[in-house]
Amino acid sequence: MSTPLSAQEVKGIISAGSKGTSAIPVVVAVPKELAPGEERVATVPEVVQKLTKSGYEVRIEHNAGIRAYYPDDLFTAAGAKIAFSRTDLLNDARIVLRVQPPTVTDVDQLNEGTIVIGFMNPAHNLDAIARMRDRKVTAFALEFVPRITRAQSMDALSSQATAGGYVAAILGADNCPKFLPMLTTAAGTIRPATVLILGAGVAGLMAIATAKRLGAMVEAYDVRRAAGEQVRSLGAKFLELEINAEGQGGYARELTPEEKAQEQQMVSAAVARADIVITTAAIPGHKAPLLITKETVMTMRPGAVIVDLAAESGGNCELTQAGKTVKEYGVTIIGAQNLPARVPFHSSQMYAKNLQSFLALLVDKDGALVREFTDEILVASILVHAGTVLHGPTRDLLSGGKP
Ligand code: NAD
Repeated sequence: MSTPLSAQEVKGIISAGSKGTSAIPVVVAVPKELAPGEERVATVPEVVQKLTKSGYEVRIEHNAGIRAYYPDDLFTAAGAKIAFSRTDLLNDARIVLRVQPPTVTDVDQLNEGTIVIGFMNPAHNLDAIARMRDRKVTAFALEFVPRITRAQSMDALSSQATAGGYVAAILGADNCPKFLPMLTTAAGTIRPATVLILGAGVAGLMAIATAKRLGAMVEAYDVRRAAGEQVRSLGAKFLELEINAEGQGGYARELTPEEKAQEQQMVSAAVARADIVITTAAIPGHKAPLLITKETVMTMRPGAVIVDLAAESGGNCELTQAGKTVKEYGVTIIGAQNLPARVPFHSSQMYAKNLQSFLALLVDKDGALVREFTDEILVASILVHAGTVLHGPTRDLLSGGKP
């Protein structure tokens, strides 16, 4: 259990907000992402144009968008200034937009009171969060934006999961020794490949749609029964089990041991007949559920492919190695990591639009930073502010407790 802050404490902290005035444009800085394999950028020229029109001054670090195919000259044409050093970029910047969480070194370059917005992956980034607390930097974590209707345009988890699901299906097809569609040719008839999707959330549904477009026969399974309708509407077959594990906020809950055994049996039979399995099953804040054991992999067809999107949170397959592609018992197992970075042009574009919507909550109608972070979306996503870690589970982790 996290130690709650009193309502008075929270009010005192969030009202310590900003000192902006409309006379001075809010400076928004976008650094080049330095994490290995990261190809995305937190804003794109189309969004910069809108931000500059709304009165922001936008600064882009030299070559920040180059790997996503947004060169500096497109940003300049959209009204941004290019900064050739971190000092020039961050000097008097009030807001920093990022994709990956800042490192301790990144935080050390920020001035007190700077607002950083991006994915924060708090449980794996405690040192940088402690540093943001100590340097009185404010951080908003996009993974905590609530999934309410008003926040849909800011839902970066969904936009990036869409990109991840698409890439997963393409990777599966690329590694599969078979055609995906049915072909009737003079050289004979080819049966369509079978693609199985485990976990039909945002990424899973996109993987289903992509595999269907490639002509495969698609089956899917999710513990949330509500997912069945969405799966069927995409023309795929939904595998039914007498379990409905819909938990809080539309997310899945953990299964009981009996339910897990039932699930294993049904999933194993479906996995054995699939040519490509794409796994996306996740429970927020928990290790990914194990859906494909080593024994099940041994029953798969030679040449079959598993693309494990849960690789970073422990994997849905027992033999997955995060960040690696391995071959076990004739099956190619892809421990997928950061798949959205493989389509950086569009994943950056979607992410940039999510951030544009989020920014609108931080600035009032006169173009000045809001004085209080009282909007429910800001309250839910604020991680650190004015020297305090406001997210209870992260505060507990920092003080050595359990999440
Ligand atoms: P997620 O990434 O947390 O999990 C992926 C999927 O894995 C989920 O569909 C989950 O039910 C499933 N899963 C978990 N354990 C499983 C198991 N043992 N076996 C099979 N499947 C398992 O989920 P997500 O993609 O972020 O979406 C979660 C929910 O939020 C969905 O209901 C989605 O429709 C909803 N959502 C709502 C909004 C909104 O209203 N703005 C936006 C996005 C998503």
